[in-house]
Amino acid sequence: MSLATLGLSPQILKALHDKGYEKSTPIQKELIPAMFGGRDIMAGAQTGTGKTAGFALPILQELNRDFKEEKHHLKAVVLVPTRELARQVHASFEAYGKYLPLKSMVLYGGSNMTAQAKRLKGGVDIVVATSGRLLEHIGQKNISLDAVKYLVLDEADTILDMGFVHEVTKILNHLPTKRQNVLISATLSGSVKRLAEQILHRPKLIEVDSMGTSASSVVQVVYPVIKELKSELLSFLIGSRNYQHVLVFVRKKQEADEVAKELNLSGLKTLVIHGDKSSGVRKRALEAFKEEKIRVLVATDIAARGLDIPTLQVVMNYDIPHVTGDYIHRIGRTGRAGVKGLAITLVSPKEEVALKDVERLMGREISREIIEGYAPKVTSQQRGARKNVNHTKKTDGAFGKKKSAKAPTKKKRKTTKRDRFKMFDEAKPKKEKKSGRGGKR
Ligand code: AMP
Repeated sequence: MSLATLGLSPQILKALHDKGYEKSTPIQKELIPAMFGGRDIMAGAQTGTGKTAGFALPILQELNRDFKEEKHHLKAVVLVPTRELARQVHASFEAYGKYLPLKSMVLYGGSNMTAQAKRLKGGVDIVVATSGRLLEHIGQKNISLDAVKYLVLDEADTILDMGFVHEVTKILNHLPTKRQNVLISATLSGSVKRLAEQILHRPKLIEVDSMGTSASSVVQVVYPVIKELKSELLSFLIGSRNYQHVLVFVRKKQEADEVAKELNLSGLKTLVIHGDKSSGVRKRALEAFKEEKIRVLVATDIAARGLDIPTLQVVMNYDIPHVTGDYIHRIGRTGRAGVKGLAITLVSPKEEVALKDVERLMGREISREIIEGYAPKVTSQQRGARKNVNHTKKTDGAFGKKKSAKAPTKKKRKTTKRDRFKMFDEAKPKKEKKSGRGGKR
């Protein structure tokens, strides 16, 4: 459906045109008219579906309609779980509202309170915030929520997972009762529903894809691997398949550092983001990755929440996430808004049980590829236990790559990683062509 048919103003359509958007995504087709209708909304939308524009556009349009005489009063609050998502959602408001007189601001911890307070005093219409920092400003009376008409809870499941529900509840006490509420969540667990009951009034339920399924544009593959050979297989896959822009997920901070170190030793330019890194370091690493100055970004689940890189083609799970639902968040970093993506998961024998949970959540088995020399030996009995196992080189087909990674012979595996990757770098294979819309932007 063309975006022009959704009743958006010419200034907003112009901004969307600048971004290269032409058609609405399925969530936008449902969410935008529903928001104009004024009801509370509970939307089951995964990352990468275009959900941000789904709530940002109607808010911008309505606030612009009511905007008078250059006076800025806080009318919309968007709560998000992480700084990264806060920055990203705010950037979307700025981009979509660039031809409007509205002012928006992002608030998250780790940045200067006084500077934020000063800007708040100057007046803003929209605030995108993490709950903790917003509460600090409320406490210091830098901000009043009395005139707020729109409340959005983005990635509500993550807000809950990260334990911010009490902060959100406190914020609710500062909001006027008459307002429109929107809750967006990738997964619809019991706790998300309970939160929804607390916040939403007779909500309209919008689901663009059944819960627990990932964006269908992501091809998923599992590589069984001996635990000790994980880093090596990771480097091998990135190098031999010529993946130029890869986001690697790792559960633990320390392990993230170790994996990044290994990848750098292999000649793959890598940076790492996790909770122990300062806000500035994380921001710089993300920018370097977005601008493709580095080839690999290693991240923990929390640090990479909400990360939006439309052209990112490959996500690699170094391990199965601690929270099963995070698998959906992880793979949702690729295959965004219709661009083809690939999600690779390395699974050691001990993780097979956790993989089963992921497969149950996804409602299907994930294809497996065996790379000899890395995969653990599987007994014929174990093999028989897995039905519909797909050993085809599906991952390569997805990107039209020339060859699959050759199973290294025992002898070859004795060469050092450094040697092997020097080889890949020297070969400097052509950069992968970006598919779809991403290339235009
Ligand atoms: P989101 O799910 O909001 O994080 O959006 C995922 C990606 O889709 C972002 O890179 C957006 O810029 C992009 N996007 C959102 N809406 C559209 C659209 N109508 N057409 C093309 N890309 C879009």
